[in-house]
Amino acid sequence: MSALQILQRDPGSQARVGVLRVERGEIRTPAFVPLATKGTVKGLEAREVAALGYDMVLGNTFHLFLEPGADLIAEFDGLHEFMGWRRPIITDSGGFQVFSMGHGTVADEVKGRAPAGPDRMGRVLQIDEQGVRFRSYIDGSERFMGPETSMEVQAKLGSDIALVFDECTPFHVDREYTARSTERTHRWLDRCLAWHDAHGPREQLVYGIVQGGVHEDLRVASTEEVAARPVGGIAIGGSLGAEKPQMYEVVGWATAALRDDDRPRHLLGIGDVDDLIRGVELGIDTFDCAMPTRLGRHGVAIAPDPENRWRVELTGARHKHSREPIMEGCPCPACSAGHSRGYLRYLLKNRELTGVRLLTLHNLAYLARLMAGLRAAIAGGTLAAHAAALRAGAAP
Ligand SMILES: [Zn+2]
Repeated sequence: MSALQILQRDPGSQARVGVLRVERGEIRTPAFVPLATKGTVKGLEAREVAALGYDMVLGNTFHLFLEPGADLIAEFDGLHEFMGWRRPIITDSGGFQVFSMGHGTVADEVKGRAPAGPDRMGRVLQIDEQGVRFRSYIDGSERFMGPETSMEVQAKLGSDIALVFDECTPFHVDREYTARSTERTHRWLDRCLAWHDAHGPREQLVYGIVQGGVHEDLRVASTEEVAARPVGGIAIGGSLGAEKPQMYEVVGWATAALRDDDRPRHLLGIGDVDDLIRGVELGIDTFDCAMPTRLGRHGVAIAPDPENRWRVELTGARHKHSREPIMEGCPCPACSAGHSRGYLRYLLKNRELTGVRLLTLHNLAYLARLMAGLRAAIAGGTLAAHAAALRAGAAP
């Protein structure tokens, strides 16, 4: 039986509204999941994240494995207790981070940048069928992560949802490489499930990850392979393409192949406003992305402004004298307190922590309302009109 109860489906798209039930509680879907990469949503208290309307956060297996280590977190009764977030947690597998060290991120590749390099991200020493040997970015020590390691770490963290360890296929590789890499991901999926079957917490849901790059037949085959396993949910990962239309097409291949599958679907690493709207229409239930919190740390606020990709750069000189809030009528702590763009710009330019916190709160509040509005629209049968209004610049 699926952990996701679908309450209503949108007749005009693949969107569905539902409730995902996991050990620590319920997640209203479709939902955005903020990143608590290293055991905290950067700058915020757990209760602030909950007050914004979030039911679940995402912890990062790779980073927590390196520091402070899964054993220490287990000593504190798991990640929920350690970080004081007693609602659902999903943990990623570490695959994306481990392979990003070797290949660079998709963004690096698309922009022609070299991978971040040894100083920032450590270094891959060897990749083989067993897993990945790499040098820690923290202390330079040699570490290993494979399917069993990842599942063991996630078991110790005690997350409600664990993701299987996959080979995150880079963007600029040929079809042959993608095919071989995707097959390895499927073999690793079986090893993850076998480990979890023997040793994992019963209550923990395990999601498989679909790979296959931007090749339709490989994506569809990967989706079918993953869906054929006894996974609790299905995540879509890897390279989704360089441009948004291609990304929507790739996601659409996967969700079309899952048309009659009621298990929850997660889209990894996607969180722009227009992508969330389209992802919901394509039948995605949960999303995670560094975007809202990372933008906040860089002085960028999310705003209903499609021409500027829903972004306002508050550090710009044009805001110096602005007495306007980031967004009129926004109930977030920054806007509802009446903080002006001029004040926020000053804080951000001077790297005052308060500025970063206020912007992070605003950005996460924006996406929480966006998703709540999409859920209400699906339930009320008005998704098409609601999505059109949002795309035209309506406030969420
Ligand atoms: Zn606001």
